[in-house]
Amino acid sequence: HSAGLVEAVSRAMNRADGVRRLGVRANADTPEDAARARRFGAEGIGLCRTEHMFLGERRQLVEAMILARTDAERERALDGLLPLQREDFVGILEAMDGLPVTIRLLDPPLHEFLPDRTELAVRLAAAEAHGNPPSAHDSELLDAVNRMHEENPMLGLRGVRLGLVAPGLVAMQVRAIAEAVVERKRAGGDPRAEIMVPLIDTVEELRLVREEVEQVLAEVSNASGVPVQCPVGTMIELPRAALTAGAIAKEAEFFSFGTNDLTQTTWGFSRDDVEAAFFSAYLDKGIFKVSPFETIDRAGVGRLVEIAIAEGRAAHPGLKVGVCGEHGGDPESVHFFHTVGLDYVSCSPFRVPVARLEAGRAALHGPADNDDSK
Ligand code: PEP
Ligand code: MG
Repeated sequence: HSAGLVEAVSRAMNRADGVRRLGVRANADTPEDAARARRFGAEGIGLCRTEHMFLGERRQLVEAMILARTDAERERALDGLLPLQREDFVGILEAMDGLPVTIRLLDPPLHEFLPDRTELAVRLAAAEAHGNPPSAHDSELLDAVNRMHEENPMLGLRGVRLGLVAPGLVAMQVRAIAEAVVERKRAGGDPRAEIMVPLIDTVEELRLVREEVEQVLAEVSNASGVPVQCPVGTMIELPRAALTAGAIAKEAEFFSFGTNDLTQTTWGFSRDDVEAAFFSAYLDKGIFKVSPFETIDRAGVGRLVEIAIAEGRAAHPGLKVGVCGEHGGDPESVHFFHTVGLDYVSCSPFRVPVARLEAGRAALHGPADNDDSK
């Protein structure tokens, strides 16, 4: 029985792959996830988030970076992170050898990275209660964290904003990517890293980061004698970016829609609070039929996507355009992305087979083929 089922599924997959126009990539941040995605048929990585690479044991280096008083201290912390990041990227590029790997520069909601204020304060208070001198490290850290505290971290020092205000951070990440490419090339591999900038609001941000990226790529190419060229593109995940996509496209080699943030900022709903009471009340009242965080809201978020594709491609013919928000693995949304002419969707590895099937179904039955208004 199950052998017959496997065969039927594999026949359906092959048929879908034969007709679909949408590429299917995966969101993966580790070599294991990348390898799994590849087994499921992913044609690359559409989003490699680098946030987790700064957690765990590496927190100490992040703290050192926060506390650095001099350029030399900050550089030392960044130098500590560089080889670790490079190894992260080598592993992922190896698992996806020959296929595109879109690596996104750090996009932290700051509160997830900074040490916890309450915890620090409690630790300091406990020391005092026991008559111990307060730890200088903890007090300094608490001061620094208090200075950086934000009431709305999701609308704060995230994404490109951090890259533009934290000296050396973008350069360290780009150097790690470029050196990983060199290492893979020297090992006879075919690494295809792409660099993606998160949370762009204005083309000026992209222009500044891009300059820095190109400078580091040139440095690594010259130092190693191995040419490193990585396309530089941007997330489109804020309404302002979608509405100014024409200007942004002139500085970008590709776009990737971050529909999680785009939904949050278009509706003004917190993506972290979808369990909140009003959300289920809205579903109960039928104000929306499904959560806009699950299925693309064609009238709002979808309109912004259409505007950004049209303006982006008009300004930059041949611009590659994908999506890497959760919607990239949602069947109904995949149909929408096919219809509006995206080049690829990127979703979690486990959703890759579904995305391939739906992309095939969309190509066979979708409105795109008989909609000449497109
Ligand atoms: C998005 O916002 O849709 C996205 C893919 O980025 P993240 O989920 O990491 O914010
Ligand atoms: Mg995002």
